[in-house]
Amino acid sequence: MTTTHRKLGAALLVAASSMALATSAFAGEAEDALVAKVVAAYGGDRLTNMRSIRIQDNYKNAFPGQGYTSGYVEFTPLKQDAQLDLAGQRGSVEGWSTNFNFTFNTRTVSVDEDIVAVNYNANTYQPGAGADYYAAYGAVIRVTDTLLAYELSKQTENVEHNGSSTYLGRPHELITFTMPSSPPVTLHVDAESGLISKMTRATGFGALSYQFGNHTTANGVGYASSFEFYVGSDVNILTLSRDISVNNVRSNVFQIDRGIAEEPTRIDTSEMTVDEVSEGVHLAGTGNAYTAFIDAGDHIIGVGGYAGLADRFTAYKEAAGHDKPLRYQIATHHHTDHLGGMADAFALGAIFVTPANAVANVNTAAGEEIPEERIQIIDGKMTLGPVEVYDISTNHAESYALAYIPGAKAAFQADHYNGNYADAPSLAGTSSVSIKNAIDDLNIDVDVLLSAHGRKASSWEDFEAAVAAYDPRPCASGRAICRGVSY
Ligand SMILES: [Zn+2]
Repeated sequence: MTTTHRKLGAALLVAASSMALATSAFAGEAEDALVAKVVAAYGGDRLTNMRSIRIQDNYKNAFPGQGYTSGYVEFTPLKQDAQLDLAGQRGSVEGWSTNFNFTFNTRTVSVDEDIVAVNYNANTYQPGAGADYYAAYGAVIRVTDTLLAYELSKQTENVEHNGSSTYLGRPHELITFTMPSSPPVTLHVDAESGLISKMTRATGFGALSYQFGNHTTANGVGYASSFEFYVGSDVNILTLSRDISVNNVRSNVFQIDRGIAEEPTRIDTSEMTVDEVSEGVHLAGTGNAYTAFIDAGDHIIGVGGYAGLADRFTAYKEAAGHDKPLRYQIATHHHTDHLGGMADAFALGAIFVTPANAVANVNTAAGEEIPEERIQIIDGKMTLGPVEVYDISTNHAESYALAYIPGAKAAFQADHYNGNYADAPSLAGTSSVSIKNAIDDLNIDVDVLLSAHGRKASSWEDFEAAVAAYDPRPCASGRAICRGVSY
């Protein structure tokens, strides 16, 4: 460790103005001075000696590319109650949301040596919710300027001064450091106050920006009471209120609540599989990305467009033992996560079948302007050989393409219902209810429900029972995080 180095840095801070930081002759001195300035701004010893912290957030949350409408994203309520035992590296992070699309109430919690995820809607827990402290709770650290300052004070080995910039008209010093389980984070430190105004980092999801404002203190420790999170240029989280308290986390939160049982065995999705659902109907995929391929004689129809479509098509053709072309690819809806495979479909020569409101996103995802003759807009009902496609409206998307294969009595849907368990049905959500109503209105005979997000082919009986058991109350758990809320 660099104890001497640290002391030198602290001494430098006393003498140095922020002007001196940029011109420091010795590598490390500017870093040390800046770290000391940040630590001082957040409470000094009160920050570095902090044993635990609780952060209670009332957010508005939107999902870029995944709005109900195709024109913009809607904000939905999201509450989070995070409790971290900093000394013991344990955490408890409860989240709750209810909206047009889904309701959830979950808690990721350290229990002895394990980290588990409790689902309060199902009254079950799932083991192995995070590999370690930083993998499980890094997201909480990154949205909390206090915790970024705390981590900065502990990560003395890899801190780098990255020049200065102006943010919101004020001079800022940039400092980059690494935490486990994350690409490097860059703090934008107000040159005068030493408070963190912004954190940025580059990830597989693009450039992420975390903005902190309205700084105040709790128990002598500084924090931003206002926080916004951007994915690229899209606002993802707005904060309505943030409260923190220091050194008040109790040990009894680090356990599984009474009445919560381990969830049923999950269906194995660890490797690429190609399952024959019915003659000429296969479901191929792995993880949370599945595509149904339907044999239409001299060509194939695909539905389910997550990234990795070409790999799934190759696996399917090998399993089915033929080399027929992908002539049609049905785009289920405008959400961009379900269009990640459209460039593959374009390269494979497919004609796109899509709801009208998804055309723009399909074009973007394909990577080039799709010729007019290769796009077919669904208007009510369309028949493509063995497949019927219906443009329906559900809670998940205002315009949605439901694929139905009458010969197999199978329907394919994305984001409305997922079967997760090998031998038990999963819980239904708001969207499950609305797609069941839409399917009932179509008067089609469905025995099997396929999903873009899972390998499980759910029986209609299981799906129907799950929908019947759905509890629409926004706070069915009755837990403190959501008690008294309405939506
Ligand atoms: Zn979706």
